[in-house]
Amino acid sequence: MDTVGVVGAGQMGAGIAQVSAQAGYRVLLSDMNLARAEAGKAGIAKQLDRAVTKEKITAEARDAALALIEPVESVAAMGPAFLVIEAATEREEIKRAIFAEVGKVLSQHAVLASNTSSIPITRLAQAAPDAGRFVGVHFFNPVPVMGLIELIRGLATSDATVATVEAYAGRLGKQVVRANDAPGFIVNRVLMPMLNEACFALGEGVATIRDIDLACQLGLNHPMGPLTLADFIGLDTCLEITRVLFEGTGDPKFRPAPVLVKYVEAGWFGRKTGRGFYDYSGPEPVPTR
Ligand code: NAD
Repeated sequence: MDTVGVVGAGQMGAGIAQVSAQAGYRVLLSDMNLARAEAGKAGIAKQLDRAVTKEKITAEARDAALALIEPVESVAAMGPAFLVIEAATEREEIKRAIFAEVGKVLSQHAVLASNTSSIPITRLAQAAPDAGRFVGVHFFNPVPVMGLIELIRGLATSDATVATVEAYAGRLGKQVVRANDAPGFIVNRVLMPMLNEACFALGEGVATIRDIDLACQLGLNHPMGPLTLADFIGLDTCLEITRVLFEGTGDPKFRPAPVLVKYVEAGWFGRKTGRGFYDYSGPEPVPTR
């Protein structure tokens, strides 16, 4: 059976594991330790339960997908995978350390892919076991809902590697766009300056959280406002990506907004920590200022 390895069982890794299993792949899911990988699987079970309740999938389909996901202690278990997708925290040193461990077990023709939002693929490839079999596969959040994958080719990425990922994406039912290995690729290059600008507007007292979000939602016809979206993505992730855009281009237009930096320093990362620009402790999100 085709086996996919997913490293990192957070928001994105869990989503990638879920859609891979729903497409019929066997999934080996790892995180910092087995307990975290198991927590990731428990979160997937909840998502699938919700899909059953909403009658989007059958109980049999849920059970079949869950049965295909195996939490593992570490990447050392990922030898059988034809594709290992790294979706760990957006920090280069963390990813490099993971690639070194994957390199010890990755089989001869298997592909290693990173779900990085912003770190250059060609640079990350230097830490991979084989730059030819290394590629960027950028999923979008929430993975089961969003139909896009940006495929980012590093300088050394082989045609066979691209073909492997395109076939995998096709089986998942996702559309693939190819982006060059430039900071932020396509979507974040356009999105992050907007989210960052909303943070500047908040910090400069242009408007309240509610009004910035409502203005963009109704005035731009976006499904949600930029501060709501930033909370949803994770403010820590937004800051990391904005820093990479800033450092990767040297262009001051990408400098992180002080408000964004402060919220991250406070540990207010958004939905995942229960507080960001909104407080999520009650039944409805409440703007914090
Ligand atoms: P997250 O914080 O929800 O999850 C990250 C996970 O990585 C955590 O479970 C953490 O325990 C784990 N981790 C940290 N160090 C590890 C290690 N050494 N080995 C194994 N696991 C480790 O973050 P996320 O939002 O899921 O983001 C993961 C990746 O996906 C990042 O590269 C991010 O840039 C990218 N991404 C995020 C989004 C988004 O909207 N959140 C979208 C596309 C891509």
